[in-house]
Amino acid sequence: MKMHGWGRYPEVDAEVFTPQTKREVQELLGRLQGQGVTPRGLGRSYGDSSLGDRMLSTRWMNHLLSFDPESGVLYAEAAVSLQEILQTFVPKGWFLPVTPGTQFVTVGGAIASDVHGKNHHVAGCFCDHVEYLDLITGPDTILRCSPVENPELFHATCGGMGLTGIVYAAAIRLKPVTSAYIDQTTHKASNLREILELFAVHEAEPYSVAWIDCISTGSSLGRSLLMTGDHTRQEKLTVKAGSGLSLPVDMPSALLNRHTIRAFNTLYYHRIRERVVRSHTHYGPFFYPLDSIGDWNRMYGGNGFTQYQFVVPKAAGYPAMKAILETIAGSGKGSFLAVLKAFGKQNRNLLSFPMEGYTLALDFKIEPELFPLLDRLDSMVLDYGGRIYLTKDARMSEATFRRCYPVWEQFQAIREANGLKGRFTSLQSKRTGLD
Ligand SMILES: Cc1cc2nc3c(=O)[nH]c(=O)nc-3n(C[C@H](O)[C@H](O)[C@H](O)COP(=O)(O)OP(=O)(O)OC[C@H]3O[C@@H](n4cnc5c(N)ncnc54)[C@H](O)[C@@H]3O)c2cc1C
Repeated sequence: MKMHGWGRYPEVDAEVFTPQTKREVQELLGRLQGQGVTPRGLGRSYGDSSLGDRMLSTRWMNHLLSFDPESGVLYAEAAVSLQEILQTFVPKGWFLPVTPGTQFVTVGGAIASDVHGKNHHVAGCFCDHVEYLDLITGPDTILRCSPVENPELFHATCGGMGLTGIVYAAAIRLKPVTSAYIDQTTHKASNLREILELFAVHEAEPYSVAWIDCISTGSSLGRSLLMTGDHTRQEKLTVKAGSGLSLPVDMPSALLNRHTIRAFNTLYYHRIRERVVRSHTHYGPFFYPLDSIGDWNRMYGGNGFTQYQFVVPKAAGYPAMKAILETIAGSGKGSFLAVLKAFGKQNRNLLSFPMEGYTLALDFKIEPELFPLLDRLDSMVLDYGGRIYLTKDARMSEATFRRCYPVWEQFQAIREANGLKGRFTSLQSKRTGLD
């Protein structure tokens, strides 16, 4: 079967297995002895981390197992999606402690990428709210892992991109809320210095994220809109259906060029006239603006696209972002979607992406001159002491990976000690030298 990630690049021919229970997962691992298998959730990682010759779709392990209304701890199977959690628990007054920019990801995928949201600076990553997880590591082994039980395997699995086993289920601490709505404030920043200052001024706000114009140059370099927010205190705990809209066909990729992106960015930036605008928004459009258009990944044409997301340390913030934005603006390539966030402290998970600093995510359509540009950006990010996000990546080299994640040897030693090398694999792990 032809398979790809959210960026639709690369595409592979894969054998896809769909076991329905943890017992069936173990039987499959027994049958496949010696041959690597790649865990797969909802395929919202952009590149090749959930691709391989033999893929194990977790889709049928999608049951909510228990919930403690006193503590808010939900124990759920790995293929339960964040959307399902919200639909069930928002009406009861509970919300996800951390959520990425789409609700169409599984609990297993959120753990394997140790995803972050708009509140990393105050709440950390998804796995910082996981009490424990049950990990299938072989035909006869399911291990409970937590910061105190099998801690090495826990910290390797959280952010470990599925290379330490199949997460069967996890216990997640939900957070209490009294409303499904968010009080949002949008702040306009005329350039990079202003947006970084705004992040600092609003660092106590629970949620913050900025859209940044990555094409403007000179005194407007880095002009942005910062959105901050918090849950409203009103008692409206409603979930809403999606828009039902979707892109039925691939858009011609030529429609996405420097001129259309410049026009879009100018309109988007000037849609807000005042310096500060307040609004009241449902959690759907606030957290998941792109989820309302199904298959929006077809917008980039038949060759697909990649998302380049990096983080640079706080101390390097302004010069690093300035140099990188200038390089992108000067390359003639642009991105509609350029998202800037401030991260808080990094956690103990070995391959977890966030570090204290600033992260920028940009979508680029796949075209011949793109990869040399991204190679250049890699070396700039590394020189500033930063790293690149594995769950978005489809092309970083082994050497770059090792510099981004210098604890890779410790990660490999844990896999080796638990007999996981060779058993759990992906196209990305092969490319980055983890096999
Ligand atoms: C529109 C959009 C917005 C996004 N915004 C953010 C964001 O703000 N922050 C962020 O951090 N990420 C973000 N992401 C990325 C997304 O959250 C991650 O890629 C997430 O891991 C996808 O989950 P999935 O269920 O689709 O997993 P997949 O894409 O299927 O797999 C991702 C990884 O998890 C592994 N995996 C999946 N299930 C299991 C399991 N049960 N056991 C072990 N390993 C498993 C796979 O092998 C692979 O390595 C975004 C993605 C999209 C499309």
